[in-house]
Amino acid sequence: MRMIQQIAAMQSWSENQRCLGRRLVFVPTMGFLHEGHLSLVRDAKTRGDKVIVSIFVNPAQFTPEEDYATYPRDLERDWQLLDKEGIDVLFNPSADEIYPEGYQTSIKVEKLGALLCARFRPGHFRGVATIVAKLFNIVRPHLAIFGCKDYQQLQIVRQLVRDLNLPIEIIAHPTVREPDGLAMSSRNAYLDPQERKAALCLSRSLRMAEALARQGERRAKIILERVTGELKKESLARVEYVSLIDAESLQDVDQLERPAVLALAVRIGKARLIDNQILKP
Ligand code: AMP
Repeated sequence: MRMIQQIAAMQSWSENQRCLGRRLVFVPTMGFLHEGHLSLVRDAKTRGDKVIVSIFVNPAQFTPEEDYATYPRDLERDWQLLDKEGIDVLFNPSADEIYPEGYQTSIKVEKLGALLCARFRPGHFRGVATIVAKLFNIVRPHLAIFGCKDYQQLQIVRQLVRDLNLPIEIIAHPTVREPDGLAMSSRNAYLDPQERKAALCLSRSLRMAEALARQGERRAKIILERVTGELKKESLARVEYVSLIDAESLQDVDQLERPAVLALAVRIGKARLIDNQILKP
């Protein structure tokens, strides 16, 4: 595995590989890798000839009061994990390389980028859309893999690719969970043992919603009330939102008539946790 930190070097490596007819698969991350990330990497290996993983903690997607400075980082450990997976390139640029002095362009996915998490993290998805577009232009992959855990992000990336006619196929990878149900996340590192236990309220309430839908409940209002009630039983949980949304437009639905996504964001201690589940009528 080689590490590339310069944009020009990354672009020329990819250009060479493309000339050799290789199919390039890309997994963008912010590092501090866990089994969720590694599952995307293993998926990537089955889909092409060369796998590129980026590790870049993107300052543009953190609001000023968020955890950019303290976001967990461990490049040495990430390197070992990726080397073991047998990927081809770890792209790890500096913030100055990505946003040099005088940088001024950003991308806004207007509608999808204004819903759900955006209401609590102003500017977040503008930062995400911008870095994803930039990374796509630097890495030049044929295919890129994103996790369903960040469902709104996944839909925003798909929209961006459609709107800007980027010749990149986007693959969605299912959410990887701890054995007790907690969705894996780099930010789980913020949880102390008591908060870690409390964090199970997210997956528990999603399972409850799934059971309700299976029993025939179609009314969004009832499902949302029950899920919110379940989350509120957990005294350490501060609910940001619980929404039942259309899987593509991300607009709220009143009735579960076709598969929809139950999405939630909850703060526990210092951690802001998100999770979601597809509900089928
Ligand atoms: P991050 O490093 O948090 O920006 O995540 C990088 C990629 O990994 C994104 O596409 C995430 O959706 C994906 N990802 C993070 N956690 C998980 C998980 N538990 N299961 C599946 N994918 C995940």
